[in-house]
Amino acid sequence: MNTLEQIRAKLQVYPMEVKFPDIRRWQHGNTGVDYVHAFDSGLAGPHVMIMALTHGNEVSGAIAVDKLLRAELRPLKGRITLGFANVEAYHRFDSKNPDATRFIDEDLNRVWSPSRFDSCDDTLELRRARELRPIIDSVDFLLDLHSMHEEAPPLLLSGPLQKGIRFAEETGIPEHVIVDVGHPNGKRMRDYGGFGDAASSKNALLIETGQHFSLQSQDVALDAASRFLIKTGVVAATKLDNFLTPGKILSQHFFQVTQPIVADTIDFEFTQDFRGLELIEHAGTVIARDGGREIFTPYDNCVIIMPSLRHLAPGVTVMRLAKVLDDR
Ligand SMILES: [Zn+2]
Repeated sequence: MNTLEQIRAKLQVYPMEVKFPDIRRWQHGNTGVDYVHAFDSGLAGPHVMIMALTHGNEVSGAIAVDKLLRAELRPLKGRITLGFANVEAYHRFDSKNPDATRFIDEDLNRVWSPSRFDSCDDTLELRRARELRPIIDSVDFLLDLHSMHEEAPPLLLSGPLQKGIRFAEETGIPEHVIVDVGHPNGKRMRDYGGFGDAASSKNALLIETGQHFSLQSQDVALDAASRFLIKTGVVAATKLDNFLTPGKILSQHFFQVTQPIVADTIDFEFTQDFRGLELIEHAGTVIARDGGREIFTPYDNCVIIMPSLRHLAPGVTVMRLAKVLDDR
């Protein structure tokens, strides 16, 4: 029987290419909620939010929001809110155990449903989500900044609805867009309330910027956040020139997630060193072994989405499978 520590010890160690910003200067905002700052134009327009640190070790988002706050952006119309979510986990980050501070008690990106908010449950993450909830309730357009365990191209997660797909197309970056319903073990912020309601004009995107600690992730987070603010019309492009990554924008490819692969045991391993976006040509190819069980690709041209064993436990999603979505 493996332990999680033994499993993690076998996985690739990534260099720490970025510096964790000291975000304590942003503790006292103007919203009544620590680490959340709002800027109102006084003019009609959307309420646009960029959220960082929904997962405590996903530093690229914190770097981007720190830079945006330092830039003292002011909206042309509507309102901009910039926030850091799981600050407690961020402050407990330890580079010797970099996977440990994704969260403290539970995943903050699995609690966004009224049944959890209204429950008697009391975890550090639920307390933080309850604080953030009134702000999120008033947001029209949300970009939630994340990063990934493994080195892989950035992914934009549009959610399952057509309005999310359209929003991803309008945002235009990155190249790969994942159309998905989220996770069986709890609702994500990007699917909460109006964001997950086809009849609502609210909309949300989640970006996975690349490997947590890579310089590329930092650049992708800042570029994506800036493009999001420009696309939603709340900031003039000229104010964000320095934050945009120069170069050609590639046309986008969309992938429809069809199912999660959930581990039953801790004796789980992939048959290849998957990093994400691998295309497995033939149905019936063995892609993982879980205890005595073999896991096969269920269809031809099956795409591997965000494989990782870093949080392996029975019941945890260790990868998702997707179809290339040509017709949308
Ligand atoms: Zn994340």
